[in-house]
Amino acid sequence: MQPLIPDYLSGVLRDCGGDRSGALADYIPELAHVEPERFGMALATVDGAVYCAGDSDIEFTAQSISKPFAYALALEDLGLDEVLAKIDVEPSGDPFNDLSLEAGTGRPLNPMINAGALATHALLERGGSVGARVDRVIAGLSAFAGRQLSVDETVYESELQTAYRNRALANMLRSLDNFEVEPLDVVRGYTRQCAVQVTTRDLAMMAATLANGGVQPATGEQVISRSVVRQVLSVMTTCGMYDSAGDWLSTVGIPAKSGVSGGLLGVLPGQSGIATFSPRLDKHGNSVRGVLAFQQCSDELGLHLMEVAPATRTVVRDQREITADGEVVEVFELHGTIQFAGAERLVRSLVEDAPKISHVVFDLTEVYAMNTVAGSMLRRSARILVSEGRRVTFVDPANIAAATPDGGPLRVVDTLEDVLAG
Ligand code: GLU
Repeated sequence: MQPLIPDYLSGVLRDCGGDRSGALADYIPELAHVEPERFGMALATVDGAVYCAGDSDIEFTAQSISKPFAYALALEDLGLDEVLAKIDVEPSGDPFNDLSLEAGTGRPLNPMINAGALATHALLERGGSVGARVDRVIAGLSAFAGRQLSVDETVYESELQTAYRNRALANMLRSLDNFEVEPLDVVRGYTRQCAVQVTTRDLAMMAATLANGGVQPATGEQVISRSVVRQVLSVMTTCGMYDSAGDWLSTVGIPAKSGVSGGLLGVLPGQSGIATFSPRLDKHGNSVRGVLAFQQCSDELGLHLMEVAPATRTVVRDQREITADGEVVEVFELHGTIQFAGAERLVRSLVEDAPKISHVVFDLTEVYAMNTVAGSMLRRSARILVSEGRRVTFVDPANIAAATPDGGPLRVVDTLEDVLAG
């Protein structure tokens, strides 16, 4: 069989490759030396498949794409409250290197602009030594990528020599007591963080780790917790694409982050990570061809997050009466993924049918996922039924509903035959 997905990705590169508009970032002198025609794309799934096309194994520096990952590490190490006390989560609408501090508190508006990224870097290792902060961020970025990453020393030196604006931002943050460490050290560490070399394939894996609830799909390492993933993806959604975040969200609709070296990654929660690399940038600082490629994929593959999925109305696949031990038993056979809306439909049919039911069976054999709220709605419904004097049995071989049998009217069994067996 033809390799369907790599062929598709190559087609996207062909369709978008003709656009030679935009310009290389040159405020970091070394970035003006890259080959402008480079164009690569990669897609990594949450179960570890990786598809690549074009220049997907060429290394370039991560630049701003390191920001959401450094933010994730700070959240993982310090917790949300401590991080929020230093860095807000409001989109600024200003260019990435704007000062954008919240009036009154002096907090940078978000961790995706440079001021916020400098403040984030300063938090790593609770403000420990320069070396400790850099080690933490490089080890963390490597864990997301699933391989050891290293710093491009030439790009690092090149940026550091001209980092006047970032020094100004760091000094300003220090003067406002956002952090207590030496501002130039923060600029040095942050610049090393930005100079970490990645390939497009690495970026797709890093994105897939976020898509996979923080678990790196290839190594299986839980790099960050689910709650941190949620926070990071929220901030990427509102602030990830410089001052074109609103335009990006409405046209492409994928939480994403771009960097001035031409990389771009997007996260499809629960599905996959996608990345592109093409160095010429538009006026916002986003890769011209990268944006085009994401737009095309989003349209053709239906990836826009706000694309409303058809409602799954059939959470209860079958509701029928059986007779076990001479007793009439009502079986609710559920299937698929059960979330709030599905649990609500189940609870509604329970209420409607309740008067006539003396023994309720929830058959979860065909359910493969149930979120926390749906699980607790189901357990509470079971307890209410029991308190009303009815019997409740869960057929739940994978323990999806986490209902604990109470030795009384609530039972958990593995098969429907066990119910019939009494
Ligand atoms: N190191 C770059 C800077 O701080 C990153 C900018 C970016 O990629 O947006 O200016």
